[in-house]
Amino acid sequence: MSITIFKRSEDLIHHVNEEKKKGCSIGFVPTMGALHQGHISLIEASAIQCDVTVCSIFVNPTQFNDKKDLETYPRNLGSDIKVLMDSSCDILFAPDVHEIYPHESGFVPSPELSWAGKVMEAAHRPGHYDGVMQVVYRLLDIVKPDVLFMGQKDYQQQLIIRQMIAAYEIKTKLVMVPTEREADGMALSSRNVKLDEESRIKATILSKTLHDIKSQLPHEDVNSLLEKGINQIADKGLEVEYLQVADQNTLKPLSKAHKGEKVVICVAARAGDVRLIDNVLYPD
Ligand code: AMP
Repeated sequence: MSITIFKRSEDLIHHVNEEKKKGCSIGFVPTMGALHQGHISLIEASAIQCDVTVCSIFVNPTQFNDKKDLETYPRNLGSDIKVLMDSSCDILFAPDVHEIYPHESGFVPSPELSWAGKVMEAAHRPGHYDGVMQVVYRLLDIVKPDVLFMGQKDYQQQLIIRQMIAAYEIKTKLVMVPTEREADGMALSSRNVKLDEESRIKATILSKTLHDIKSQLPHEDVNSLLEKGINQIADKGLEVEYLQVADQNTLKPLSKAHKGEKVVICVAARAGDVRLIDNVLYPD
């Protein structure tokens, strides 16, 4: 399939407005590129629900709290375009930094965030979600989509963006798409290419631990499950940043999963200098 590529927001806005005038609904999938099947599952979900699917590729500097992570983040626009041409994507928006942040410091939304804005990724990556909200706010302002598609892989991110959308009364619906995994359970991530062969095999302990906790949740005390989980991950040589059983809506930690409670089990760990995150929902 062919895709239309825009580098300038002005051109994209014009094109999207023309599609809207024809009565088309717009689905939007923001990414940082190095596209894999996880990203494609968002694009396919958009193509099912919307008439026109816009994907953006922009490695947003303001969300990287670690400069080395930004420098080594995989970038390959040429192969990403080929991947998109084999997908249901209609439009690629691939702006440069000046297009997204034309002024020295762009507007940074600061809505009142719940507990979700203070724990886990927010606590371990200071400033990260300010950068994420800044870029998503800007991209939504440019694309003005009917539906925004985000991955469950970054569960906390979609929750915070949901709160931002509500706080600023943005007229876009957010849809969360389930995590795509490798056959061995490992969540697909652009950062996986940075793992050497041995670390890649060891890293499967993350999804295994999450599933172990999920299966034991109705039967065992949460704290003892977390302790076992942390040891299980550390035994493989990964450094655990957090392992948490939390409420799906607030991300408040839970010491017990009561009947009917909607829970998310989240982990972040380092395999060498590669930081990995994953989560599972309970019940499904
Ligand atoms: P990124 O390029 O890492 O910023 O991710 C762009 C979007 O793809 C985000 O909404 C992610 O949550 C989503 N995503 C990343 N990995 C996966 C995956 N394995 N399955 C589903 N969605 C994913």
